[in-house]
Amino acid sequence: MKQMVGVLLLALLLTACAGGQAEETQGSKQPETSETDEKAAEQRNGESDKETDEESEDKNSQSEADEHKKDETVVANAVEPKYEITDTWSFKPIDQANEQVALLTFDDAPDEHALEIAKTLKELEAPAIFFVNGHFLDTSEEKKVLKQIHELGFAIGNHTATHTSLPTLSKEQQKQEIVGLNDKVEEIIGERPQFFRAPHGQNTEYSKQLAAEEGMLVMNWTYGYDWNAEYQDAERLADIMVNTELLYNGANLLMHDREWTAKAVPEIVKGLRGKGYELLDPSLIKTP
Ligand SMILES: [Zn+2]
Repeated sequence: MKQMVGVLLLALLLTACAGGQAEETQGSKQPETSETDEKAAEQRNGESDKETDEESEDKNSQSEADEHKKDETVVANAVEPKYEITDTWSFKPIDQANEQVALLTFDDAPDEHALEIAKTLKELEAPAIFFVNGHFLDTSEEKKVLKQIHELGFAIGNHTATHTSLPTLSKEQQKQEIVGLNDKVEEIIGERPQFFRAPHGQNTEYSKQLAAEEGMLVMNWTYGYDWNAEYQDAERLADIMVNTELLYNGANLLMHDREWTAKAVPEIVKGLRGKGYELLDPSLIKTP
């Protein structure tokens, strides 16, 4: 895929090279660090509400000059999405893609276990999205971890700068939480997130608008358990994640950067595959 993008990019460069617009960055991050997990919103079956939105992604090959950003956007859009999100946060094939898929997502990253989780997934060749919080991206060490996760091939999603409940914030604060984090992530990995998940799944009309303007797909989840005391154990968590009655085609699985979750990952991946599920590659998901 990268190769193909490279070839396409090269072709575009040869034919037309347009001027680029410089991306501006405004890094903002709020100092707040309220990190909590989706415990509040937990729905065992998780879905909560509304919205979807989108965004474009800019994949920039830093090797090439940024003057070709426009061309890159064209290339990005050329990638055919095979799945789209539903009203209940699951995924369905756009055409003939395999419908028995499940998406793995990890929120509140990169705290202490995200890199380990990413390495485990990589060994298992299992794709996933890591939804990151800005308050875990302050030090150079933390930034390095994010870079490593990204370089292992995982999608990086936006889970806001400080993990504060969006409905409690002003518009300007919501913008800092969402756009500010995208700026920060881009500074670190060279790309802006294409997926957005609100803290506790609490979206607002304005946050959905911002996500859309940023080209991010908003997604909550269909089920998750690792914040429940009962499942803060690798074995019990792996069992429920695979055997819950909430597992169905297109399921969107919520997990977190937690010790027991990190330990449960191999069994969750094997268990889902054992039941016939293909783990959904985020790059095949349609974004706005
Ligand atoms: Zn969270």
